[in-house]
Amino acid sequence: MRAAVMYGAGDVRVEDRPDPKIVEPTDAVVRTVAACVCGSDLWPYRSMPATGTGRPMGHEFLGVVEETGAEVTGLRAGDLVVAPFTYSDNTCDYCAKGLQISCRHGGRYGFDGVDGGQGEAVRVPCADGTLVKLPVAADSALVPSLLALSDVMTTGHHGAVTAGVRRGDTVLVVGDGAVGLCAVIAARRLGAERIVLAGRHEERTALGREFGATDVVAERGAEGVARVRELTGGVAKVIEAVGTRQALDTALGAVLDGGTVSRLGAPQYEEGPLGRAGFLRNITLTGGASPARAYIERLLPDVLDGTIDPGRVFDRTFPLDRTPDAYRAMADRQVLKALVRP
Ligand SMILES: [Zn+2]
Repeated sequence: MRAAVMYGAGDVRVEDRPDPKIVEPTDAVVRTVAACVCGSDLWPYRSMPATGTGRPMGHEFLGVVEETGAEVTGLRAGDLVVAPFTYSDNTCDYCAKGLQISCRHGGRYGFDGVDGGQGEAVRVPCADGTLVKLPVAADSALVPSLLALSDVMTTGHHGAVTAGVRRGDTVLVVGDGAVGLCAVIAARRLGAERIVLAGRHEERTALGREFGATDVVAERGAEGVARVRELTGGVAKVIEAVGTRQALDTALGAVLDGGTVSRLGAPQYEEGPLGRAGFLRNITLTGGASPARAYIERLLPDVLDGTIDPGRVFDRTFPLDRTPDAYRAMADRQVLKALVRP
């Protein structure tokens, strides 16, 4: 099969790899229908040291079950499924709590002999616990929005849930990338009345307004904080969807004392303000990697009936062999989120 492999910063190649086969009786092999490039794929794209072996890429995909292991009972060949961005058994103590990201038997695509999602097929471990069957055909117009449940939409939802967004709230979302825009959808869905989106890319913030943002703040740093405070008087619930120290500082600067900051962006910093200043302000820092599997079934009805349309974050589609161009276009900010079709 053909699949995307990263060999170092800026070096993504699509090459022939062995066809996935059932290894464990709980595996399934999924033939990919749609996959995509994640904002988090851009961090290694910018910084990964060169390697001779390479790393299979991609953790967001949707496809058709081709084969199942002997112990898989809930799926069969021909089922259209979406995969959350990590696999999990959905039975251990963490999974039972809805924290599938911490599954004791789970793991990541592209590591430990598991394929990446940016390829023609994927061996999915713990298939029964991981894959969610979709009640539509593979050529459905809903495929992009269903694919968004794999990561960006469920991650945005995690931000809104952990920030404690409720009906009537005012919420600040820092970041106009695909996750930030999905956090706007999620905050709106949970009833937020006022949603301030901090971002400076006009096409993206325009989409954010369509998703439910009521205000856009293009200023950054201290100016951005001042503008949010001027507009709202300060917000009690902030979703940080970038992952840089500057974005965290904006979130902490804008949040009211006693408020909550939920982090969704994979942190690109190792140190932060954990000292006395934050302590005195009684700020709750929450969020983290989303347990996507926990949220897919909750959000699925809203995608199926068109209440939410997160697939609009995909603004360009690339054939699989052009996945390197998809990375380049996203890294250059010419594309918000790239869909990849085998
Ligand atoms: Zn588990």
